[in-house]
Amino acid sequence: MEQVIIIGGGPCGLSAAVECKRAGLDPLIIEKGSLVHSIYLYPTYLVFHSTPELLEIGGIPFTTPNEKPTRLEALTYYRMVAEREQLRVHTYETVVQVEGTKGAFSVHTENRFGEKQTYTAKHIVIATGYFDRPNYMDVPGENLPKVSHFYQEAHPYSGMKVAIIGGKNSAVDAALDLVRVGAEVTVIYRKSELSPSVKPWMRPLFESAAAKGRIRVLWNSQVKEITERSVIVDHEGIVETLDNDFVLALTGFRPDRSFLGKLGVHLDEENGAPEHHPETMETNVPGLYIAGVIAAGGEANAIFIENGRWHGKAIADHIRQQSE
Ligand SMILES: Cc1cc2nc3c(=O)[nH]c(=O)nc-3n(C[C@H](O)[C@H](O)[C@H](O)COP(=O)(O)OP(=O)(O)OC[C@H]3O[C@@H](n4cnc5c(N)ncnc54)[C@H](O)[C@@H]3O)c2cc1C
Repeated sequence: MEQVIIIGGGPCGLSAAVECKRAGLDPLIIEKGSLVHSIYLYPTYLVFHSTPELLEIGGIPFTTPNEKPTRLEALTYYRMVAEREQLRVHTYETVVQVEGTKGAFSVHTENRFGEKQTYTAKHIVIATGYFDRPNYMDVPGENLPKVSHFYQEAHPYSGMKVAIIGGKNSAVDAALDLVRVGAEVTVIYRKSELSPSVKPWMRPLFESAAAKGRIRVLWNSQVKEITERSVIVDHEGIVETLDNDFVLALTGFRPDRSFLGKLGVHLDEENGAPEHHPETMETNVPGLYIAGVIAAGGEANAIFIENGRWHGKAIADHIRQQSE
């Protein structure tokens, strides 16, 4: 029987593991992809908007000669933390079901070879993040191979007609990257201006590119349909057909809370936030904790590494107190 199983090896799951280990609990992390898989899926050349000390976990220094770390530096840092702290991590193993109650949870998994396994644990920490579940537009053609909900790098789009859907940081960053490689970029956003969350130093660059006509922006617009060669848009009530080669639907993500609901965690009817004690991160199901983005309500971006990394300490302290 494991003391603690942590589901998800993102920064917040890793932080919980470091803290639980220091509390003498020797946790097991089960991660369906690679370590910090969400960061691995970020745009290849991403530079974080957080400074490195705000991404640190377990008090282990994260240094970089630059003002802000790159994706590659973050991958290296979190890998180093897992090694240094000798965390037990089972990668490429997916948790498919959790059942039971405090002191006797069962965690059912399947690895990449289709082999199934069941673990038992006294406590469970769910730290499954949100990066797996893009906000789908639910329009015809969204599943065509030319459509992606993830942006990696600009090179493949050179000389292509690309529609970017969204108006937050991911859309702004991708649009500026793509213009640099000579793509013909149209940004389609349902609102009348960029999201207030757009990084203040990126906003003027985007606005300048739009003003100079280097990026076409369709505000107050909704995609109606995507075909092999076009995107059909409702632009302020007028339906327009745009010639198109690729679509980047950068519409954000939402957490999958199916484990939580099935285990009896109360989910807020309006925003889906799981009921939990903010000081211990224990849900209304005793022995079941949440860490990181999964704890957020409707606005998933309210929790990020900077603040979600503290959940682990709260959880470890609470489990230790309960065991005393
Ligand atoms: C482009 C981009 C830039 C960002 N920049 C910043 C920044 O500068 N500063 C900042 O603080 N935040 C930033 N964020 C947000 C940050 O990435 C997230 O807040 C952070 O990843 C959340 O950590 P987490 O551990 O809660 O979840 P995640 O990092 O999403 O980790 C969850 C893990 O759980 C695994 N998992 C899911 N389901 C299962 C399952 N059933 N079984 C096993 N494993 C499972 C996933 O594979 C994943 O590895 C950025 C996000 C994006 C997309």
